[in-house]
Amino acid sequence: MSVPVITIAAPDWGIRFGHDAQRHPDLMLQTARLPDRVRIPLQQHIGSEARPLVQEGDRVLAGQPVGRMDVNRLGAHVHASLSGHVTRVGTALVPGRRNGLAVDIQSDGLDERWPGFAPHSQPLRLSTAALRKAVLDGGIVGLGGATFPAGIKLNRGGGVATLILNGAECEPVIRCDDALMCHYTEEMLLGAQIMLRILEADSCIIAIKQDMSSAISRVTTSLTQLADDRFQIALVPPVYPIGGEAQLIQLVTGREIPSGGLPWDSGAICQNVATAAAIATLLTKGEPMLSRIVTVTGDGVAAPANFVARIGTSIESLINAAGGYTQQSAGKLMMGGPMMGVELASNQLPVTKATNCIYVPGNQELTQKSDAVACIRCGDCAAVCPADLMPQLLLQAQATSDFDRLEQFGLSDCIECGCCDYVCPSRIPLTRQFIHAKQQRWQIALEKRRASKASARITARDARKQREALELEQALEQQTHNVTTAAGARSALEALLERTGADNSDDQS
Ligand code: SF4
Ligand code: SF4
Repeated sequence: MSVPVITIAAPDWGIRFGHDAQRHPDLMLQTARLPDRVRIPLQQHIGSEARPLVQEGDRVLAGQPVGRMDVNRLGAHVHASLSGHVTRVGTALVPGRRNGLAVDIQSDGLDERWPGFAPHSQPLRLSTAALRKAVLDGGIVGLGGATFPAGIKLNRGGGVATLILNGAECEPVIRCDDALMCHYTEEMLLGAQIMLRILEADSCIIAIKQDMSSAISRVTTSLTQLADDRFQIALVPPVYPIGGEAQLIQLVTGREIPSGGLPWDSGAICQNVATAAAIATLLTKGEPMLSRIVTVTGDGVAAPANFVARIGTSIESLINAAGGYTQQSAGKLMMGGPMMGVELASNQLPVTKATNCIYVPGNQELTQKSDAVACIRCGDCAAVCPADLMPQLLLQAQATSDFDRLEQFGLSDCIECGCCDYVCPSRIPLTRQFIHAKQQRWQIALEKRRASKASARITARDARKQREALELEQALEQQTHNVTTAAGARSALEALLERTGADNSDDQS
């Protein structure tokens, strides 16, 4: 059966990076050495931190839950990535946050598996509810970097017709998804079939960049063998940030996500190719996320490569495995790529479910981005913006903290892709300003919520005091009434007794 392939035309936004503009690792996968110890952060996902289930001294097995997310809270369960002993449960520096709870495990070298997840030889025969529960129990999250809990995203209760499998790696230097599509093709396709079943969706579009020739060939061959007519391939142009969820859905389906709307409002859901493979591994091998593929690259590292690394492995050990730092290394580290990555405070931080790439920039790259001058109103930033915004107007509104205008100009739709910075001839760090504006807006909203809660508390307290005063008044009135009534009753009784006594004495006489 031939596989339907659609070729998507290039959009009129974004940036076309030359293939040799950055250093790329090849598509080989190296399995990183089993670490002696791992640090497992209890929040590796969007939402709340998981609750620790283990304590110092406990023995744990690979895949055993060490952090539990309470029902009805946004988040994901967390699992040990190797077998060994818990040496510490406490606050530590973790990627993406300053401090968070983490479980440290000293490996016993046995890599013994936890038997709690049953492997299934035919997972597609399981019920939709059982599949969804497995994804939740396995703590699977979106592995494209967003880390939204997959079990929650897949729980749409109908209404999603199309699953888009996102293999259109966003950043120019990251190759983990490209490598995954080449080495874990069958797992990825089975994971997609499982997600189709959970969603009760009837089509899956696998988005692959047009310059990922090996992945295109592998996926096409595997899909031909699979002969599942629900699948098709969309070849998307190598334009950054084509892998952004809203951008990809719009390009592939032609459906726009309205401002402020959610991706599934368009009838389509995007899941990363690695998320699909992780779901299949969980169900067929009974393994939750023990490891993930991490690209280690940049001019500051000697031998860029893709590694299969256990969750909790130190970033330093991966950099060493990639040949260590070059002389050009500026000592700066990013998690993610050069465009959207977040700076890491230390190379001692652990790999998490979110770590698709460790980027080590060279000195030259860092010194290029300085000395901003005034905006010359050239409009280049607007021309590349994938969200159809006018970054120069956002910048003006941000300078005066005019939040109404920031909203009006679409601050919420900014995906922080950095395209505007990249093209700005005045070297203005626009994205940083927009991130700052969003944080300020969030802080203002938080303070408003707090003020409104405080005001509601004061109103409730005043109402309670008034109610109590009224109740007291009513009680006093009642007491007075009772006393009066009692006094009246006593006088009546005394009068009666007097009369009765007189009658009785008459009788006795
Ligand atoms: S690209 Fe830079 S200089 Fe040009 S309009 Fe945008 S902010 Fe101004
Ligand atoms: S960072 Fe925001 S404003 Fe700048 S190009 Fe990207 S989406 Fe547009």
